Amino acid sequence: METMTAERTEVGELPGQLPPGQLPDEKGYFGEYGGAYLPPPLVEEMNKITESYHQIKDSVEFKEELKRLNRDYTGRPSPVYHAKSLSAKVGGAQIYFKREDLNHTGAHKINHCLGEALLAKHMGKKKVIAETGAGQHGVALTTAAALLDMECEIHMGEVDIAKEHPNVIRMKILGAKVVPVTFGLRTLKEAVDSAFMAYMQDPVTQFYAIGSVVGPHPFPMMVRDFQQIVGEEAKDQFLAKTGKLPDHLVACVGGGSNAIGLFTAFLEDKEVQIHGVEPAGKGFKDGEHAATLKLGKPGIIHGFKCYLLQDEKGEPSPVHSIASGLDYPGVGPQHSYLKDIKRVKYETINDVEAIEAFSIMSKTEGIIPALETSHAIAYAIKLASKLGPKETILVNLSGRGDKDIDFIAENYGDVIGID
Ligand SMILES: *Cc1c(COP(=O)(O)O)cnc(C)c1O
Repeated sequence: METMTAERTEVGELPGQLPPGQLPDEKGYFGEYGGAYLPPPLVEEMNKITESYHQIKDSVEFKEELKRLNRDYTGRPSPVYHAKSLSAKVGGAQIYFKREDLNHTGAHKINHCLGEALLAKHMGKKKVIAETGAGQHGVALTTAAALLDMECEIHMGEVDIAKEHPNVIRMKILGAKVVPVTFGLRTLKEAVDSAFMAYMQDPVTQFYAIGSVVGPHPFPMMVRDFQQIVGEEAKDQFLAKTGKLPDHLVACVGGGSNAIGLFTAFLEDKEVQIHGVEPAGKGFKDGEHAATLKLGKPGIIHGFKCYLLQDEKGEPSPVHSIASGLDYPGVGPQHSYLKDIKRVKYETINDVEAIEAFSIMSKTEGIIPALETSHAIAYAIKLASKLGPKETILVNLSGRGDKDIDFIAENYGDVIGID
């Protein structure tokens, strides 16, 4: 949004000298990306959030409470599953899944929502606000708010409201106020704009619980820290199962929270090749994809610096993906940095490939994946077919696809053969 890009209080760019695992630096930079580009009224509030987070994150009370909720409420640890049928069908490497789809609320988002909501509560906030794309972050945050007895307001584009109807109902049942966003493309970017505007009305009693590793510092760091458990568990589980580390990691990248959650524990393991998968949508024409790391250039959106799909004036470009949760013109600052230092390779999968993977996964494994996750699965299938049977690929199964079935049946029933 304009106010977020126009008035910068942070212009310094620091080179990323720290090893990737130790970033960001104190000001929230991953190399040249990240930071906090904020209108003046928000600077103090954001500093308070950073301060409170540093205070509680290592406190025994907070850690114990989060551990208890992760275990008894979310159902962690989620399993690592060897997909033998899919691997046999593809006929190459062995494919494993980290089952974040089995979490309470059906995706990885609950991991950071519980953390963010606990922090908001600790800070004495009455209300959490957020955007949502596919509705997964909205559902997970509303769930955390219900649990912790806080008010919750979710901003969602009208296009996504129509597409992800079950999640809208779920949020309302859980007690959220769902605010339809009626301007622009009426999808995820506008939902963030709208939620930011609502947050700005009263940043003191409200807390903007951002839904991915994006936004101003400390959110990219904080959301990553809460998601890091995915890779930590997966590393132990995979080692216990196979005696080795996976040869490849694969995760889809919207803002990048499920990907960084899986990747973080492996960044220093140079033998592990890491792949992030962005949506190529209908193709690489402007407005038809959201392949930010592939085709974007550094710029500023929603209070932080990252690769950005933008026009000549630096305004975010329109984007498209069949997966509402990947439909964003920016991307996490740490991913922007990991691309530049070449630690992670960013690839793309288009709408049709994602739908095919959605169908193959459902029919061979009996698991209906989210459309977002289907991008990672499609890429893993391609990659597996080029590798030998001793090689392994660990995919983050970021969420389940129940939310997508009506949309798929209506629009792609013929493609997946259910008409
Ligand atoms: C929101 C969502 C994503 C995309 O968000 P990231 O922050 O990139 O992880 C991916 N998969 C599922 C299931 C989601 O709900």
